[in-house]
This record gives sequence, C-alpha cells and structure tokens, in this order.
Amino acid sequence: MSERLVVIGADAAGMSAASQARRMAGPRELEIVVFERGGFTSYSACGIPYWVGGLVPERDALIARTADEHRARDIDLRLHTEVIEIDVAGRRVRVRDLGSGAESWTGYDKLVIATGARPIRPELPGIDAAGVHGVQTLDDGQALIDTLDATEGKRAVVVGAGYIGVEMSEALINRGYEVTVLDRGVEPMSTLDPDMGALVRTAMCGLGIEIVGGAEVTEIRTDDSGRVRAVATAEGEYPADVVVLGIGVRPETALARAAGLPLGEYSGLLTDLSMRVHGHENIWAGGDCVEVLDLVSGRLRHIALGTHANKHGQIIGANIGGGYATFPGVVGTAVSKVCDLEVARTGLREKDAHAAGLQYVTVTIESTSRAGYYPEPAPMTVKMLAERRTGRLLGTQIVGREGAGKRVDIAAVALTARMTVEQMTALDLGYAPPFSPVWDPVLVAARKAVSAVQRRG
Ligand SMILES: Cc1cc2nc3c(=O)[nH]c(=O)nc-3n(C[C@H](O)[C@H](O)[C@H](O)COP(=O)(O)OP(=O)(O)OC[C@H]3O[C@@H](n4cnc5c(N)ncnc54)[C@H](O)[C@@H]3O)c2cc1C
Repeated sequence: MSERLVVIGADAAGMSAASQARRMAGPRELEIVVFERGGFTSYSACGIPYWVGGLVPERDALIARTADEHRARDIDLRLHTEVIEIDVAGRRVRVRDLGSGAESWTGYDKLVIATGARPIRPELPGIDAAGVHGVQTLDDGQALIDTLDATEGKRAVVVGAGYIGVEMSEALINRGYEVTVLDRGVEPMSTLDPDMGALVRTAMCGLGIEIVGGAEVTEIRTDDSGRVRAVATAEGEYPADVVVLGIGVRPETALARAAGLPLGEYSGLLTDLSMRVHGHENIWAGGDCVEVLDLVSGRLRHIALGTHANKHGQIIGANIGGGYATFPGVVGTAVSKVCDLEVARTGLREKDAHAAGLQYVTVTIESTSRAGYYPEPAPMTVKMLAERRTGRLLGTQIVGREGAGKRVDIAAVALTARMTVEQMTALDLGYAPPFSPVWDPVLVAARKAVSAVQRRG
C-alpha cells in the first residue's frame, strides 16, 4: 500500500527531500504532496543580490526547477497553500488555500518540515513604509527592483552589515546608488573577529560605501506620502530613497512550536543525525529551521545557509526513500564578496573559542594570491586560530581580493578532519605562479600557528 509523504516548504531543503525521496521510491510506493505558501519552488535566494545588482538579468534564472517540472516527476506541488497546523497525534496537517481562503486537513504517514527562516524585522516606527525592503524571497527581490526602477533619488541605506547587507551594498553600488550601511556592531561582518571585520570596513570605504558602526536604528522617517526619506539612529539621520534590511534571520518554527515539537536554544528544531526530529519516528526537519551540530565546538548552532539546506534535504529524502544517510554537522564555512573584496570564514572566532572554554593562539599573516613576480598578485590577510598545546586547528578567516575567498575551503577540510596546524603545513596543495606563491597563504598561516603553539606550550 502506498504511503503519503507531506513536505512543508518547497525550496532548498523541502524540494531536495521530495526529489531524493522520489528518485528512490516510485509513485506506487510513495505519494508526495508539497505545500508552499509562496509562488516559487527550488529558487536561489543566494542569487538575489546579483539579480538586484543586474549581474543576473532575470528572475527565472534563479529558479532551479519550476513547480511544473516537479509535478512532471510525480510530486503533487501545491503553491500558495500554507500549512497552518500540524496535528502530530492525528498525523495530519491543516492547510489554507491562500487564494480562496478554504481550509482542509491532509493526512500523512511521513512529514518533512522545511519551513526555512524568518527575517528579523524590528518593530520600529516607519518599518512598513514604502521603500523599505527585505530580500528573503524572490517576491522581495522583485519588489526591491520595482522600487529602484521607480525611484529618482540615488541614496540607499542598508541596515545590517552581515553578509546579506554587504552583498546588497554591492548590488546597490552597481545600480549607481550612494550606499550607507548602518550596523549595531563596531565592525561589519560579525561572523569575523573585529580585527578582520576592520579590514572589510577599510575596503568597503575604499569602494565609496559609508559604514556606520555602533548604530542603533530608532526610526524610519517618511515624507507626507508615506515614503521613506531617512533612517534615524540615536546619533543622527541618514537620508534614504530606499532602505534594505539585512538584520539576520530566525528559524521559522512557529508551527513546530505549536505542535509541541522539540526546539533548541535558538528556536530551531532538534533532530538526530538522520535529520529525524527527536522523539518522532515519522517526522524529519532540515534547512534553516533546524539547529546543527558545530563539529569544532561540539555545540548546537543555528546557521542559515543554502549549502546545509540542500544536504539536509538529500539526507532526509534518502532516509524516507528507504536508504540510509546521516548529516554529521558543520564547521561553519561561509564566503561572500563585496565588489572585488572576498571575505571568508570557517570554524570558530575568538569569542566562540572562548565561549567553548578552549584556550587558543591566533596568528595573522599577509600574503598574495599569486607569486609576487607574476602579474597582478592580489593581497590577502589570513587569520588562524589553533588550540593551545594540541595545535588543533580551530578556525580561519580570510579577507582579500580575487582568489582569497575559496581558499577557506582548505581550512574547512582540515577542520573536518580535525587536523593540527602542523599536519596542515604538510598538505600537498597545487602550486604554480599564476595560482599562488610557492607556500600557499593558508599554509603560511598554518606554519606561523605552529610556531605560536610551540611558543605557548
Ligand atoms: C539574499 C540572500 C543571500 C543568500 N546567500 C547565500 C549564499 O551565498 N550561500 C548560502 O549558503 N546561503 C545563502 N543564503 C541562505 C539560503 O538562501 C538559505 O539558507 C536557504 O534558502 C534555506 O533553504 P530552506 O529550504 O531551509 O528554507 P527557505 O529557502 O527559506 O524555504 C522555506 C520555504 O518554506 C515555505 N514555508 C514556510 N512556512 C510555510 C508554511 N507554513 N506553509 C507552506 N510553506 C511554508 C516558505 O515560503 C519558503 O519557500 C542567502 C539567503 C538570502 C536571503
């Protein structure tokens, strides 16, 4: 007899799970129903800054697979349909058709929760004014583009200097805007240590972006027609024709909470290694709505990244489809760029290491992306943390120009393999003058870290 799988959320985690389950189980064994409250499936939110900035010419390029393509693979996909309740005991979900408002129940044998994350939207006066935009979904991206097309003024304020704020600054610069970034922290990119964030600030200022640290936004000020005209902080007022919010996200787990499912410290769903929700044999969860194990600190964290969401979905789909797969955890790798500046991190920052009770040494080195004599070597700074005494690599941050960002993957692999910085120095990495100096910058940092570990004993 056929079982029914119900999936809530039709983006990275949800559709990876549905597609993988469908690859492994035919329609006679498994009926798959997916509910999505929005109008798109399998879209790349990661591409929104490049679409807004004009690098990607059209929205549809960001859609990896449409609803009709999924339907052609025997997945019953219902757009503009929101799940409003999970009845765990009754194994059913209550759904609302957002077009007609009609509500009904759908039973399930297996349930996947892939509801993603919700952007933080502070309750400030004027926050809903015309011209204030988030960038979480394709609809948000389209609304922002419509505003940019219709607005004559060219002053933009970005609230939040995390990677989304930083990427959106580039998009707005590319569209000819004067950009001011306001952030509560002292330095941009709080996913880095402040000394590395300071390098990002210097480089962004060099690109003509004004960055105001320690800025607590108090109000969005509007003109007589209700359109944004400025963003106010305790210290001053920043004129704005458009405002972009990039303040971070929280797991979208209101449904799960109401259903009594287990949530962690960050309100993310708690799962086992197979992505099955703790204590619930027939419910899985993945993507931005779950907490993940940080393999370096051993703690649970909420890290909203597409790279994790896709993997979670694959693993969930394999397990539901009759296979076996597990997700061991993450080391916290992320890379982003603003114009020609590349910013990358993996593992622990100093404050994470401190919070985990680890003693550590840090080193910072300057190097280049190519041999110094080869044309156009691009500078980069690499910071590395290693555990005191053992020399285990704890984290790496890189800020630099072309060729800097993806070098962090060397450190990500070393972290995953729990290598010491001494072991890293022996890594057999590729070398030729157009690609790196004879000692790759990451290995130069590892060598310096070995000395620091030996000195500190
Ligand atoms: C601007 C931007 C840039 C980014 N850049 C990167 C990047 O460079 N690299 C990277 O790794 N990650 C990046 N990300 C993060 C990445 O997009 C997310 O981590 C990823 O989309 C998470 O996938 P998900 O399936 O868990 O959640 P989502 O993509 O949020 O999908 C969840 C879906 O569930 C639906 N839903 C929620 N509740 C319900 C309900 N009750 N009923 C029905 N449907 C529901 C939502 O409408 C949504 O479509 C970026 C995100 C943004 C916004």
